[in-house]
Amino acid sequence: MTESTPKVYLVGAGPGRADLITLRGAELIKCADCIIYDRLVNPDLLTLAKADAEIIHTPKRTGPTSVAQGLINELMVEKALDGKTVIRLKGGDPCVFGRGAEEARILAAAGIEFEIVPGVTAAVAAAEYSGIMLTDRAYSSQVTFITGHEAEGKSESAIDWHLLAKFNGSIVFYMGMTNLGFIAKQLIENGMSADTPAAAIQNATLPIQRKLCATVGTIAAECEKQQIEPPAIIVIGTAAKADNSLDWFGRLPLFGQTIVTTRDKKGNADFAAKIIAQGGNPIKFDSIKIKPFTDKSEFLKTLTRLSEYHWVIFTSANGVNIFFDCLQILNKDARVFAHAKVAAVGPNTAAALKRHAIIPDFVPTIFTREQLGKQLIAAAELKGKAVCLLCSQEATDQLKQILAVAGASVDQTSVYSVETQKCDCARIKDLLDVGRIDWLTFASPSAAESFFEQIDPGAVKSAKTRIASIGPVTGARLKDIGLTVHTEAAEHTIDGVIEAIKIYSRI
Ligand code: SAH
Repeated sequence: MTESTPKVYLVGAGPGRADLITLRGAELIKCADCIIYDRLVNPDLLTLAKADAEIIHTPKRTGPTSVAQGLINELMVEKALDGKTVIRLKGGDPCVFGRGAEEARILAAAGIEFEIVPGVTAAVAAAEYSGIMLTDRAYSSQVTFITGHEAEGKSESAIDWHLLAKFNGSIVFYMGMTNLGFIAKQLIENGMSADTPAAAIQNATLPIQRKLCATVGTIAAECEKQQIEPPAIIVIGTAAKADNSLDWFGRLPLFGQTIVTTRDKKGNADFAAKIIAQGGNPIKFDSIKIKPFTDKSEFLKTLTRLSEYHWVIFTSANGVNIFFDCLQILNKDARVFAHAKVAAVGPNTAAALKRHAIIPDFVPTIFTREQLGKQLIAAAELKGKAVCLLCSQEATDQLKQILAVAGASVDQTSVYSVETQKCDCARIKDLLDVGRIDWLTFASPSAAESFFEQIDPGAVKSAKTRIASIGPVTGARLKDIGLTVHTEAAEHTIDGVIEAIKIYSRI
């Protein structure tokens, strides 16, 4: 951003899913000095902000909370006058029932420059994420957005219920949940057929989205029964019948499944993104922490002697990344591999190597350390060869033994250690208690150990929660802990775990 004068950007954050923000909105968040954000904004968007950006949460509930709104207005003006680039980040579109107009007027009156960045509004997003087509020409040539809150308790409603009851198109209510009985009653009393289709979509675009289809006569009772809660959009009209063949979101393979990931922070972020892409709801539990051995002399010594080895073997992508960080510290580059052949345990490790311009000479067809050893000795002559085995401190010497039996001289060097990390367990325990976790996933024995040091295995057994393991070694550890492994990845990668869950869920 090149602007230097104080300015406030009223930015629409989109309806829920973080990447439904506009490019303009995302770019502005990256440059902002101060971000004032609402309750419905996805907090993941704040990770885009500069490290030193001031971030202010204004969890204002809908309704006439004028004091809170007054404070927000003052904050915006004050921060802008301090010379800061201020982002007022609001759910959906900033001006669709979002008080954007009011905030813009305050800024105009204070002589502060502003820009409004539109966002995807909840009505449109909720409809398109649930097979509801608001302006399908087959049945609806008009659509209207109404606030369901305005009606509450007002003797003189600005809503013309008579006109609305006759509206021949799609009617969308925002903020209608607490008032749903009243809304339906008004429509029916003013002449709308009680059989008119009505739908409620809660938490639209998020993996926890829920959709309920009913009629105007039944929607209030059904929502109560099924505990549909705000934030939710209500659609009334033929569109609300919902065409399930167009419900692409609800048909994603992991839709509706809550899946706990138990890797380290970065591993969990990658895993969670894959789960979301397939419609699932990830819960990240950073059970382990990778501690690089950048300061360990043994490892650094190995690095300087790399040219003496015939083979260098990597058993994880973490190992590869830390290895190259260390090379940089030693002011060396990938030419240390000029003479050595390189082996990787599986496709992720190979991909990490390729990112550093090294194409591994060998990757086994089954991605375990044991298979790496067995297949490598079948594929290459290792007798009398010097092998450098780079792995975690916790790795057993199984692979080393296999290679040694084939006559290789093996140096096993630890590149990093895996440490247990204490996590906030309260939410997972609560969700287990109420049966809301579908899967616990484990990508290493250390993650399994750390998780079950913190969560009682008994709580899992009684929770009907299923367990997915990345491979036989992790699976064996889980069984040692006394758990049933419901599915094990055929390909021992994170994608393999997702595939195993999908196959299990189809049975
Ligand atoms: N400016 C926002 C609306 C703010 S009013 C926009 O353009 O979307 C708040 C209301 O929006 C909620 O009560 C609910 O009716 C609706 N809403 C916002 N996010 C939603 C979501 N993810 N799913 C369903 N409804 C949502």
